[in-house]
Amino acid sequence: MKALVYHGPGQKAWEVVPDPEIIYPTDVIVQVDTTTICGTDLHILKGDVPVVTDGRILGHEGIGTITEVGRAVSKLAAGDRVIISCITSCGSCSYCHRQLPAHCLADEGTSGIGWVLGHFINGTQAEYVRVPFAEGSLHKLPAGVSDEAAFPLSDILPTGFEIGVRNGRVKPGDVVAVIGAGPVGLAAMMTAGLYGASRIIAIDLDDNRVQQAKGFGATDVVNSGGWGWKDEVLAMTDGLGVDVAIEAVGMPATFEMATELVGPGGTVANVGVHGKSVELRLQDLWIKDVAITTGLVSATTTPMLLRLVAQGRLTPEKFVSHRFTFDSILDAYDTFGRAAETKSLKVAITR
Ligand code: NAD
Ligand code: ZN
Repeated sequence: MKALVYHGPGQKAWEVVPDPEIIYPTDVIVQVDTTTICGTDLHILKGDVPVVTDGRILGHEGIGTITEVGRAVSKLAAGDRVIISCITSCGSCSYCHRQLPAHCLADEGTSGIGWVLGHFINGTQAEYVRVPFAEGSLHKLPAGVSDEAAFPLSDILPTGFEIGVRNGRVKPGDVVAVIGAGPVGLAAMMTAGLYGASRIIAIDLDDNRVQQAKGFGATDVVNSGGWGWKDEVLAMTDGLGVDVAIEAVGMPATFEMATELVGPGGTVANVGVHGKSVELRLQDLWIKDVAITTGLVSATTTPMLLRLVAQGRLTPEKFVSHRFTFDSILDAYDTFGRAAETKSLKVAITR
């Protein structure tokens, strides 16, 4: 088969590799119908994720059709159309038992990280992929839900919902600010309405992204390029600060923005992946009764989100900005890597 293989910082190729095979009885093999690229794949390609070594097939998102199941798999069968979750869940370790498969302790050399595909083992940017612990890691797709509506459920939709909206404890009537209107921030905006947010304020430096946010549930948009962003947001809350500030960028400056925007009793929900230490103004925050949350997505809400997609209550197909086929995956990387110029959000790459 062919796959997108990482060959060290800055090096990747769409090349012929051996077909994956069942290794453990709980594995299945999936023929990938649609996959996509995540910002994390760009970080890997820069060499920022050292556990990803030369020869690894990238990708942790996708929709596919099962071609083969291991002998311990009874709830899935060849021919099933499935969502491949970015988190692999054994279902029986202590973290899986407490609904935190982000820290699944099952093997594959991961030391407590449930994100294994395209990280510790070969991933989904390939014609076929081996999915371990398949019964806990795949979701059958109901007929009528398209690949484009479903693939955002692999990662971005549960991430924005679980780590942004749910960790942020959004309640009816809340004013929610989302810093960063990339796919993950937009996913938080799309799902904040589920808990009854009264206002959803999208904040980004990129005018195209803030404008796009209006189609994902944002009621107000703020460009944070100038000086006025803080006053603009505070004016929407009678000067008090927002109830929930969701950080969906992953930079020290944007985390600080979230702590500046949150009001007394509010929550800062950090979603961004940080590579540098961040200043925490605890001297200002303690007296405001502010809670700060962090997290790696567990994707335990995917079945619930899928029901909302099947009913047309959520429309994640809106994330698809560009379409490619597998043999043009390098063009897909180029387009996705220049998001500000190309206005890309999620690229759908199909067989
Ligand atoms: P992205 O790069 O597409 O989007 C980030 C957005 O932030 C861009 O629109 C950019 O213009 C904006 N931005 C940059 N600097 C800014 C600033 N100073 N002020 C306001 N906006 C600014 O990224 P994404 O794919 O949407 O992911 C967002 C973050 O979520 C990343 O850090 C990613 O690694 C992380 N993530 C976390 C998890 C998790 O489980 N916690 C899972 C997936 C992704
Ligand atoms: Zn587990």
